[in-house]
Amino acid sequence: MLDTASNRPELPPEIARRRTFAIISHPDAGKTTLTEKFLLYGGAIQMAGQVRAKGEARRTRSDFMKMEQDRGISVSASAMSFDFGKYRFNLVDTPGHSDFSEDTYRTLTAVDAAVMVIDGAKGVESQTQKLFEVCRLRDLPILTFCNKMDRESRDTFDIIDEIQENLAIDVTPASWPIGMGRDFLGCYDLLNDRLELMDRADRNVVAETVEINGLDDPKLAQHVPAHMLEKFLEEVEMARELLPTLDPQSVLEGHMTPIWFGSAINSFGVQELMQGIADYGPEPQPQQASPRAIAPEETKVAGFVFKVQANMDPKHRDRVAFMRLASGHFKRGMKLTHVRSKKPMAVSNPVLFLASDRELAEEAWAGDIIGIPNHGQLRIGDTLTEGEMIRATGIPSFAPELLQGVRAGDPMKAKHLEKALMQFAEEGAAKVFKPNIGSGFIVGVVGALQFEVLASRIEQEYGLPVRFEASQFTSARWIIGAKDEVEKLVNANKQHIAHDNDGDPVFLTRLQWDIDRVERDYPALKLSATKEMM
Ligand code: GDP
Repeated sequence: MLDTASNRPELPPEIARRRTFAIISHPDAGKTTLTEKFLLYGGAIQMAGQVRAKGEARRTRSDFMKMEQDRGISVSASAMSFDFGKYRFNLVDTPGHSDFSEDTYRTLTAVDAAVMVIDGAKGVESQTQKLFEVCRLRDLPILTFCNKMDRESRDTFDIIDEIQENLAIDVTPASWPIGMGRDFLGCYDLLNDRLELMDRADRNVVAETVEINGLDDPKLAQHVPAHMLEKFLEEVEMARELLPTLDPQSVLEGHMTPIWFGSAINSFGVQELMQGIADYGPEPQPQQASPRAIAPEETKVAGFVFKVQANMDPKHRDRVAFMRLASGHFKRGMKLTHVRSKKPMAVSNPVLFLASDRELAEEAWAGDIIGIPNHGQLRIGDTLTEGEMIRATGIPSFAPELLQGVRAGDPMKAKHLEKALMQFAEEGAAKVFKPNIGSGFIVGVVGALQFEVLASRIEQEYGLPVRFEASQFTSARWIIGAKDEVEKLVNANKQHIAHDNDGDPVFLTRLQWDIDRVERDYPALKLSATKEMM
């Protein structure tokens, strides 16, 4: 069992000041805008708008990206680091579209907390709900930001009720909105007894803050018109009666979420949220691993790859593996052991993603994300250590839900196609299976859009037009068990067997009945819908 937050030893200050988190939201709720403001307050960029501008400049570089842009899917920088007061924030980007859910899941294995952004008029939307469920699998602490309060939004109690009911989590207000829509005045900071007044004239200006000596302070009346004040005081009184008070331990355990109200585009409420991440967000947490868990305070470096991005620059066939540091103090040039191959690997040009630019990482600490350029040695799920043979676990690969055959437009190019497919498989963009009988490949994905993305990328990046076509199979299961048992199954079911890009055997079928039959006939084997990446 991992330690719980309360009995963890004190971390070295450099590690304790790190907050590594992701933003989860439904498209359009304001994730990009909020990210820009984070960077703005993090002093990382001078002007909001640069994240988007940069993103667009990058997107024009490849048509694959262009396609995503056309469809309104965001694939932006994968990790950004910035400072907030004495804290170092690492924000890991989650792919926005539901078709990339597997990728998203793995991204969330690299963070210690999530900020959930909801639109004040829309409440909990479908994608928020899905992402939340993924966070819940790991009991990730969640901090909530209710955005767009400058617009006509729902009643505050309604919003809180909806979160409590739909997501089954306790909600405690960290701030309380005063007025709404055109009459939105600002928020009362319930944690620090302050009035935050929104400036509508300048969107990049920090809100005016008035220190208030509790809710009966006459100063409130100087800033809030009488009719609004009355309603506000009533609401807060009710909130204090009906809603739980902030319990930091419960937040760390993922049972309670504090909610801040604001307007990202008006830079309003963002700093309070950031302060909340600093105060109530978790420090870098232990990482589950085999044969033992990795604690962040260990002096030796260990990290795991949760994402691989290939062809970031189409001119160079380079890839960047994103590694979350689970422990220790990393320095540039360090020789680490690549646990899967047991080979040493010099990490000489790691990159830290400071704001919107890449920078060489001279050093990094547990909790940080670094990018390691490589030529394909590093795969999702890989662990790098200072020598110990320890393997991070819990970074799964899911059985694809959709299978299709794939063929090169030009049959002479079959070998090229194989190479391209293997690359995407290693990147985690698709599963690629080579059936034991016949030629060709079967590609498996979690969402249908991925086939189009793949076809477009193979054409763009390898100059290979391809055709996807219906497959006779609809399900894939990894065959787990002792070698001789696996062989028995493989030999008796040749027409159902394929191997994945790691050479591991897979059972393909279109009938659940087949899967049940195998499990009955081979009780020592397991047909698994997930495979731990290793
Ligand atoms: P994302 O899809 O979650 O990344 O959302 P964006 O940050 O791109 O925002 C979606 C739209 O909502 C954009 O047109 C933003 O300008 C707008 N928006 C973001 N924050 C606010 C806000 O606080 N108030 C209002 N009125 N609009 C906002």
